[in-house]
Amino acid sequence: MKLHNFVKHLAQGLKSISKAEPFIINLIEPDGAYVQAIIAKSGKYLVEVSGNNWLAKPLTRSQEAKFRAFGWELNKEVSNYYMEFESDFDTDIIATIVALTVSEAFHISDERYEELDPFWPNMEELEQMEKDNIVFWAHQFALLQLAEHYNDVFKEILIRCEKCKQVFWGRDAKIEWHGETAELFCPDCDTKFKTLTK
Ligand SMILES: [Zn+2]
Repeated sequence: MKLHNFVKHLAQGLKSISKAEPFIINLIEPDGAYVQAIIAKSGKYLVEVSGNNWLAKPLTRSQEAKFRAFGWELNKEVSNYYMEFESDFDTDIIATIVALTVSEAFHISDERYEELDPFWPNMEELEQMEKDNIVFWAHQFALLQLAEHYNDVFKEILIRCEKCKQVFWGRDAKIEWHGETAELFCPDCDTKFKTLTK
């Protein structure tokens, strides 16, 4: 997985943050893009990605759609996309969601980021935000349950392997065709998780 290092770096950063010390990654491209994470007063992880006011070039509609597709909310006042995660939520999954979002929206790959000194300018405003990420995963699980056909909808579902906990796109699942029937497997541990038809 080409984003593996980025995910690992983010996950380590998330484990290192505290209420006093947020974690920030400044992305080299596009200009002004960054990821910040902090523990909010509620104890939840609060993650945000810079929006239009911080970016040298405004996001296109298709880029904005990527953030919405992953369940991010836009705080227009601060011009940031944000998401909250329960304090006991798996940091590897948070990191994966963040990495997939920014890589899809900004086209980031490995080695295209640098870590900065922790800095948090809008703590009071951002701590007000309440958004439970469980909604996001419930939606993905529902889509997977409902999927019957190997089509574009299935390819856009984010799936978490029950066995090895790997998170991956439907389109990246291993696939075995038997006539009209497709068997889907985890790309990492080969566990079968779904049968679809054409
Ligand atoms: Zn697996």
